[in-house]
Amino acid sequence: MITLETELAHIRGLNDTFLKKLSKLGIVTVQNLLWHFPTRYEDFSRIVPIAELKPGTTATIRGVVKKIESRKSWKRRLQLVEAIIADDSGGIKAVWFNQTYIARVLQVGMEANFSGKVTSGKQGMYLASPSYEPVRSYKEMRHTAGLIPIYPETKGLTSRGLRYLMKPVLEVLPKIPDFLPQEILRKHNLPELNSALKHIHFPHTLTEAEQARRRFAFEDLFLIQLYTAKLRYALSQNKAPLIPISEDKIQAILKTLPFALTPSQQQSLDEILDDLTHEKPMNRLLQGDVGSGKTIVIAIAALLVALQKKQVVFMAPTEILARQHVASFENFFKDFLEKNNLRIGLLISGIKAQEKKKIYADIKNNELDIIIGTHAVLQKELRFPELALVIVDEQHRFGVEQRAQLIRDPKNTDASASNPRESAILPHFLSMTATPIPRTLSLTLFGDLDLSLINELPRGRIPIITKVVAPQNRSKAYAFVRERIIQGQQMFVICPRIEASANDSKPQTTKLWDDAKTVTEEYEKLAKTVFPEFKIGMVHGKMKSADKENVMRDFKEKKIDILVSTSVIEVGVDIPNATVMMIEGAEYFGLAQLHQFRGRVGRGEHQSYCLLFTTPESASARNRLKALTEAKNGFELAELDLTLRGPGEFLGDKQTGLPDIAMHALQNVELLKQAREDAISLLNTDPELKSLPELQLKLEQFKKKIHLE
Ligand code: ADP
Ligand code: MG
Repeated sequence: MITLETELAHIRGLNDTFLKKLSKLGIVTVQNLLWHFPTRYEDFSRIVPIAELKPGTTATIRGVVKKIESRKSWKRRLQLVEAIIADDSGGIKAVWFNQTYIARVLQVGMEANFSGKVTSGKQGMYLASPSYEPVRSYKEMRHTAGLIPIYPETKGLTSRGLRYLMKPVLEVLPKIPDFLPQEILRKHNLPELNSALKHIHFPHTLTEAEQARRRFAFEDLFLIQLYTAKLRYALSQNKAPLIPISEDKIQAILKTLPFALTPSQQQSLDEILDDLTHEKPMNRLLQGDVGSGKTIVIAIAALLVALQKKQVVFMAPTEILARQHVASFENFFKDFLEKNNLRIGLLISGIKAQEKKKIYADIKNNELDIIIGTHAVLQKELRFPELALVIVDEQHRFGVEQRAQLIRDPKNTDASASNPRESAILPHFLSMTATPIPRTLSLTLFGDLDLSLINELPRGRIPIITKVVAPQNRSKAYAFVRERIIQGQQMFVICPRIEASANDSKPQTTKLWDDAKTVTEEYEKLAKTVFPEFKIGMVHGKMKSADKENVMRDFKEKKIDILVSTSVIEVGVDIPNATVMMIEGAEYFGLAQLHQFRGRVGRGEHQSYCLLFTTPESASARNRLKALTEAKNGFELAELDLTLRGPGEFLGDKQTGLPDIAMHALQNVELLKQAREDAISLLNTDPELKSLPELQLKLEQFKKKIHLE
């Protein structure tokens, strides 16, 4: 008998090549197979006579293959398959690229349906890479399905192949118990699991398919919500050190600052301090644009904790940033630290063994109050006897896993180690990010966090002037930059790619991507021909991290005038003397990311500029970039980005685990809110999901699938 767990390899009649192709898509079990959903459906019942085809439309024809051949294109190294298809009304050419197997599958005399875009070329109209369905199989299908599912195809694994496997499996599979509670299905009018599975693969109508899809979208959102709600619940069962905070102490610290906090800085500080005065562990994300003054806010919280002789760990993504944080603590609070006998330690992997030993000992003896560092603070053998607050800078650089582990890790607290059944004493947890997270995402992927938001910049900043530079004005822009550098200012140049030969991250078949400027070439060009008189540096992700940090240090110390870089520069480096941010191939970046780049300048006394260049042919992208030239904050830009580009591209490849369907559902705020409410109310009545074993199991599988644990 076939069950969801049955491995496809155990089903008779499937050949090894087919199985291998399936497993490349992560399809190993029956469950994997059934949850591999079509991206769209084709309606072969609406067939157009070839004579009536119109260029620019997508159409389905039925005809006989009159001729088919495979050849090399003379222009590029492409394999072309060309066929002539004819029906009673006329004939048309069909063309496929790099799919030579089609010439073997489709044979002269075969009758088939072809569906694709009608394109007009130099030699008349043709069908571009149409999908096809031999009429014989189409007839077989006809009596059960009106619409034919089209699956995301990878090399050689066709929709046809998937359909032939999917259909019999669905037919013989015994009824699966639905893991979603009945009430929830009824409440939202969602189809039950078994029929939803049938209808998403072989719908009779598009509405049926839509309803099934909605159910699976809800399913994913609900599971994400359950996961984050459970995290929240589990955390609330633990305790954190209660930090008494007096208004006097707050005022004493604020008085040492050369400025007053902005209203949203004050508000965020209040929220953080309120958490600290409770026993429930804080789990908060402080969001704020670059330069909005997050560091000051968390520094005040850190000082207040340290005053109670409790320890604070402050983790930064790079050594440079860790050093930078130490410097700002010491710079702002020198007197306060001395007066109250508070000590700050820097813990990075680069320090000498002896120094490290001393720091470890100081931490163990509670002689260091605020420990600022990199991942080095996560060392297993390291114990913080009085750890009360953990702060993580640019938290999007740390995975969800790490965050959860850091909070839960009983190694950090002696209390929990001795008796794991009792609720553990955990540190409060505060993360901060300058990467704006649109609301739908913060409700899902970051749903277990409380949010604080700094939504204005301190007064008195000179706004950065942003321009999209037309290609013909490039030399003018260079002349403009030259003047700044002669005056002693510095410039960043950002390029989308590292080097021409490497397939950095996008597929090379994307023609536009081939045109994107590379760091290595741009560095050469600027150093040799454009700015030979200046010192030019280069930094990118393939360099060793020590080398990267050296270049950054040189730039900071003005040993370098122009720094050519990939997006590695994104994270919070503070170089007030840099006044120009030049971005090549700006269309390759998201608006929020561009805004981040721009935030690297405008930090000092001089007027700063952000100059955006696009590849000549992408004039359309220039419109999108206009949003940047109007003063918009990072959150507005992130929301705009999410709508313009969709969640997949928005999140980039960092969040690979999230299923496509959930990605799309992220744009459905209503569904998302319902899923959240349902998850929370379910957990309120049954925190362990004891009454719903199937749901429990599904949640475990889901966590693995989206790499949450
Ligand atoms: P973020 O960490 O959010 O990027 P920082 O905390 O580094 O921002 O602050 C950026 C700069 O603004 C720092 O030089 C800081 O001293 C200054 N700053 C912070 N808050 C204020 C304020 N309320 N008024 C004036 N300047 C401020
Ligand atoms: Mg910062």
